[in-house]
Amino acid sequence: MHTQTLAQLANDLACKKISSVELTQHFLNRIDRLDKNLNSVITPTADLAFKQAAASDQRRQRGQSLGVLDGLPILHKDIFCTEGIRTSCGSRMLDNFIAPYNAEVVSRLDDAGMVMLGKTNMDEFAMGSSNETSYYGPVHNPWDTTRVPGGSSGGSAAAIAARLAPAATGTDTGGSIRQPAALCGLTGLKPSYGRISRWGMIAFASSLDQAGPMTQTAEDAAMLLNMMAGHDPKDSTSVACSVPDYRASLDAPLTGLKIGLPKEFFNESLDSRMAESIFSSLSVLERLGAQRVDVSLPHIGMSVPAYYVIAPAEASSNLARYDGVRFGYRCSNPVDLTDLYVRSRSEGFGSEVKRRILIGTYALSSGYYDAYYRKAQQIRRLIQHEFDAVFKTCDLILAPTSPTVAFPLQDRKDPLSMYLSDIYTIGVNLAGIPALSLPCGQMDGLPVGMQLIGPYWSEARLLNAAHRFQKETIWHQAIPAPYC
Ligand code: GLN
Repeated sequence: MHTQTLAQLANDLACKKISSVELTQHFLNRIDRLDKNLNSVITPTADLAFKQAAASDQRRQRGQSLGVLDGLPILHKDIFCTEGIRTSCGSRMLDNFIAPYNAEVVSRLDDAGMVMLGKTNMDEFAMGSSNETSYYGPVHNPWDTTRVPGGSSGGSAAAIAARLAPAATGTDTGGSIRQPAALCGLTGLKPSYGRISRWGMIAFASSLDQAGPMTQTAEDAAMLLNMMAGHDPKDSTSVACSVPDYRASLDAPLTGLKIGLPKEFFNESLDSRMAESIFSSLSVLERLGAQRVDVSLPHIGMSVPAYYVIAPAEASSNLARYDGVRFGYRCSNPVDLTDLYVRSRSEGFGSEVKRRILIGTYALSSGYYDAYYRKAQQIRRLIQHEFDAVFKTCDLILAPTSPTVAFPLQDRKDPLSMYLSDIYTIGVNLAGIPALSLPCGQMDGLPVGMQLIGPYWSEARLLNAAHRFQKETIWHQAIPAPYC
């Protein structure tokens, strides 16, 4: 059962081969039995899951006409507020926070009849690329438990890779859906900024954060995006443009599709075996009718420094609300108000979050605003323009997702080397455009991912290209041996 995709499980439910309660039981058993070595699910929600599954089975028995996701299990990254359930964002600061309402993403998937199995581990406040900054301890990669699953949606990625759930939600501020998807052998989509409501999604860097699906296949991602996408009046940055049926165009031909390869991504610093996997994947796409175009994004190298000013600046403002007064962690026996603020924040936040708050506050301070924050915004605009220009000559861009496969736990102690691992993903967030990572090979038994990047609102085209590729290849079917 657990090796099936969402699409396959939906068929089994529709023809009553299995019930939602059986499915739920099966995946909860797996979480119980197999997650000890992975630490991917920090809050299982068995009671709620059985209630939702039984309700779905009843709807089906009554012969109600049901949506395709009805009765299917899912895990939510612990950044999404879930009513009555702890929503920690991977932080001690919110370890005792029970959300009073559901995030819009959660409500939409609930309304579609999905069954929530639990909440997944993540880097604290989504800051990280290895899932090592979580207050709840690191997540281990099911392909090799001495290695990281990527981050910040590392719990979601590890759980799907180990088939503890058929799908999960993630968020991507600078690569946090795509990079863990790549390191765990999954498909992960970061939609256009504004495509999915951010309401009830705990803010890291509001102008960059975007939710998206993490799945085994592009088809499953399309099924989830169909429900997750759409305007939400509660989020002023969610865009009121119509949502196509992403599943309907999955099989469209790729004839004449122009795929751009930015020369800045395919230079000597790219691992040669990784390049080989990506080029042989390109030839699969070419056999399907796509054409290669050489393109250039001259300032893409500046995306990492620009992001690591803008994201901390926004984070320092967003995280100001955790003051020990209104909600979240409060230190014990404060002597006065200042002591309450200082100790609550010092004890509640981990070191990476503190580093970001300090960087952000510094960059926004009056003496440095022009030198850092304004400069970073100018680079951001430059990068947006460069993507716009490139999409005049090609339909999609092909790129690596991560410079390396999954790296060993505790390998990257210096923050700069960690930040540099986001080099292929961050430009996309600065530009607001959509991108998808999908498995395209293996190196020493570890998954290799590649990225397809498109212009604003090109999710359907990205999913179409990824789906056609997956029909010709087997990389997305690989499961780490202990979890088959
Ligand atoms: N790794 C990046 C960071 O640490 C991106 C994180 C994310 O996308 N949430 O900020």
